[in-house]
Amino acid sequence: VKSYDVIVVGSGIAGLFTAIKAAETGRVVLVTKSQLEESNTRYAQGGIAAATFVDDDPALHMQDTLTAGAGLCDEEAVRILCTEGPDRINELLRLGVDFDSQDGELKRGLEAAHSRARVLHAGGDATGAHIERALVRALRAANVDVYEHTYLVDLVVQNHAVTGVSLLQDTGLAFSLHAFSVVLATGGAGQLYRHTTNPAVATGDGVAAAFRAGALIADLEFYQFHPTALAVGDTFLVSEAVRGEGAVLRNASGEAFMTRYDQRADLAPRDVVARAIATEMLHQDGEPVTLDATTMSGEFLSQRFPTINNHLRSLDIDWSRSWVPVTPAAHYWMGGVRTDTWGRTSLAGLFAVGEAACTGVHGANRLASNSLLEGIVFGGRVVRHLVAPGEANEPTFVDDVQQLHFANAGQAVPDKSDVRDLMWANVGLIRDKGDLETAYKQLQAWSAPSTLINQEQHELRNLITLGRIVAAAALAREESRGAHFRSDFNPCDPSQQRHRAFTR
Ligand SMILES: Cc1cc2nc3c(=O)[nH]c(=O)nc-3n(C[C@H](O)[C@H](O)[C@H](O)COP(=O)(O)OP(=O)(O)OC[C@H]3O[C@@H](n4cnc5c(N)ncnc54)[C@H](O)[C@@H]3O)c2cc1C
Repeated sequence: VKSYDVIVVGSGIAGLFTAIKAAETGRVVLVTKSQLEESNTRYAQGGIAAATFVDDDPALHMQDTLTAGAGLCDEEAVRILCTEGPDRINELLRLGVDFDSQDGELKRGLEAAHSRARVLHAGGDATGAHIERALVRALRAANVDVYEHTYLVDLVVQNHAVTGVSLLQDTGLAFSLHAFSVVLATGGAGQLYRHTTNPAVATGDGVAAAFRAGALIADLEFYQFHPTALAVGDTFLVSEAVRGEGAVLRNASGEAFMTRYDQRADLAPRDVVARAIATEMLHQDGEPVTLDATTMSGEFLSQRFPTINNHLRSLDIDWSRSWVPVTPAAHYWMGGVRTDTWGRTSLAGLFAVGEAACTGVHGANRLASNSLLEGIVFGGRVVRHLVAPGEANEPTFVDDVQQLHFANAGQAVPDKSDVRDLMWANVGLIRDKGDLETAYKQLQAWSAPSTLINQEQHELRNLITLGRIVAAAALAREESRGAHFRSDFNPCDPSQQRHRAFTR
């Protein structure tokens, strides 16, 4: 069994950045289940937010983040995100990320619910791909052992501390690695839902493994649905930055309906926009709404949004002339493995960063373009803590904690799509007690495969486990807040302004 100082699981922005920084001082290994580049990060379009311009201030960025988070952000985590963000952006530049610039100045975009234009982008709308490419290059140059196509099955726990990981390779080879610290950077779980912007790797494995190991996981009821995924062809995200540049949503009658839902109209927070679209779709027999970008020239659209433009062209759609059909899709998980502001979880030796973590930085709803930033800010802090652990007191978590008991009920589940359809129909954008209870009972009855021999079966087990906890958390939260909307408990109830954590 090989031994390291740090094991990093996952190769999105959070995992790559953490591994590169940790390798400056220790023996590091990075494990990832597909090839290095595959991750949610790779598909990020809009960009990365930070107060790096003279007309901006971390305090303004902080205020926007807190407002989006609907009363559930941990203020200290937000302060850290917004004040340390600009320095980490400089590190990305040093690591070779080629953010778009003009005449030596970084270009910037405006996105929904940001009070300043502060979103840096690269390759127009190919920000994630550019970041991923630069960080993979930097990782290859760093002193890090890399295992691709290697799946985290479970955490190794000894005397209540995490001491390693058990892994499975495509070839069927199973083995373990040991380390003083394990960092989960395994991303979100969009694959819980029928419609998602996330790639196939996003099955929440790290969060499920942490739960099985006994860690606290929190805020799972808060799943952000992106308002505008393309409703033709494979799921494909149409960045909010398109609305930032002036595109408008229209229903089947051609009405620019967002003004009826929110005074910020098309630039309202994404959960407001997503639910408005879902409501409009209900009124038009489930038909998608459309995004009207025809006020912009074809030349502008192809330069500012080359990825979307190329994709639409491949579908024979000219969006400078015709409206584009769009639907909401599961996009970003605010919840995850509960951590403090140093990425420490409730288990010794276990850290979590990026989308897999719940630092409390996004509260009940993430502000657009804050998640890439979270990966580097808190990835950097995990490494600082590993090097100088004396800087912080032991982590304490004051969330409401609920225990969930798992026993296999024995009804075999055919495949992942059943879980995804159930979650979409019953635990999606608009929830109520009856639907949530139905989902919870069904998920409880479905047992994961009793013999877990391949990755597919492990992922299915994780989706069932996590789906059940999302449903339990959504049932327990009898209010509407941020991305969590209960049609039977609306609006927000100030007495429920706290995190809810689950443990085994
Ligand atoms: C289409 C799209 C557009 C987006 N646009 C933006 C944007 O413009 N700005 C913004 O800030 N955010 C955006 N987001 C969100 C953002 O991309 C993610 O939140 C962020 O990239 C998460 O980074 P991460 O490193 O935490 O996880 P990820 O990038 O998802 O990386 C997770 C890694 O863990 C690996 N992994 C997972 N499970 C296992 C396992 N069992 N064993 C081994 N490895 C495993 C995966 O293969 C992957 O490499 C977007 C997301 C999507 C899907």
